[in-house]
Amino acid sequence: MEWNKKMAVTGPSVYRGRHYRQGRPIEVRCENGLIAEIRDAGDTGNTADNGENGSLYWIAPGLVDLQVNGYGGIDLNREPLNPKEFYGLIHTLWSLGVTSFLPTVITNEPSAMGRLLASLNEAIVAAGANKSLGASVPGIHLEGPFISPQDGPRGAHGKTWVMPPDIERLEEWHRLSGERLRIVTFSPEWPASEALARWCGRRNIVASIGHTAADGDQIRAAVKAGAALSTHLGNGAHPVLPRHPNYIWEQMANDDLVACVIADGFHLSEAVLKTIYRAKAGRMLLVSDSVAVAGLPAGRYHSPVGGDVVLSQEGKLYLAEDERLLAGSAKPLIKGVEHLASIGLCDWQEAWEMASVGPARTLGIPAGQGLAEGAPADFVLMETNGLCFSIKQTVKRGQPVYGG
Ligand SMILES: [Zn+2]
Repeated sequence: MEWNKKMAVTGPSVYRGRHYRQGRPIEVRCENGLIAEIRDAGDTGNTADNGENGSLYWIAPGLVDLQVNGYGGIDLNREPLNPKEFYGLIHTLWSLGVTSFLPTVITNEPSAMGRLLASLNEAIVAAGANKSLGASVPGIHLEGPFISPQDGPRGAHGKTWVMPPDIERLEEWHRLSGERLRIVTFSPEWPASEALARWCGRRNIVASIGHTAADGDQIRAAVKAGAALSTHLGNGAHPVLPRHPNYIWEQMANDDLVACVIADGFHLSEAVLKTIYRAKAGRMLLVSDSVAVAGLPAGRYHSPVGGDVVLSQEGKLYLAEDERLLAGSAKPLIKGVEHLASIGLCDWQEAWEMASVGPARTLGIPAGQGLAEGAPADFVLMETNGLCFSIKQTVKRGQPVYGG
């Protein structure tokens, strides 16, 4: 039988490739948006190649990004949210291997936050929450405004609107979002933090510690009240800290906190990544935290958050006035996977899981089952050239949504 790239799809919903973990040729049959069957391609007699260099594409679970502020010129925090642009962003993320992500609404004037959450909800509903487009957005990440007012921990969040936890407001935002809040990033330095963590726990929302200047007692109390995650650990911090104790050690040492990190090669040094990875022992996740300028050509831009910013050829995004001050991440999640593997922290398969099944499990969404029968048919077919990934096809709910 003759095979070519198009025939990577061997039927309306059968995909062939090499299992990303085991390396064996498999056929994945999809039905009703789920993986109905995974069988050895060797058993079917279909062992021909679909890759350009004579090898089968890898099949791996779709990436899951817990923190996306924007990409490709689209800013999810700029009003009014344009649904067409939002859907365009989902398509772009599909092309980068992302099958689920959380749009991230950051600290802003409270009614503007409410409007943004409501428009995200409307756009998801209009896209069909159960179809490929809508299903790619399993929720929303609310980052702020209940964070530290201090310079450093606050990062680029506007000081004017930072405030102590306000459960009534949170209730209102959750309602406006269509009850789609899945992560709330907050700082435990506020007295009402434990109430906030408990409120999240009752609604299956992950309370995540971030942009914080909290001390050890406050962090431990928040964890006891249900906080389970650290938002971009090591960033959103003072440039100079007491050597110990401090809030980074405290979160690193807490086994009940899963740590999200930005592994774009600029936000954390290799030594810090390695230390968090080892300390967390299987509980480290990757996020992109990408901003609107991500995916655009190198150059100078004006960003509503950072003002005048520069995007270098290497993908470093910094304030025009001072190269040492980062203005957000400009790399997609898949680059974080490449980075972890390329610095030798772990094999690419493990790094891939930190950006796919790991985040999905933290959210408690079915994609956490990974490449398994009964799991959502969310996966990618790709080639690896050394440690450089090239997405050939993205499948969401059994449907090819990119490439192929
Ligand atoms: Zn942040």
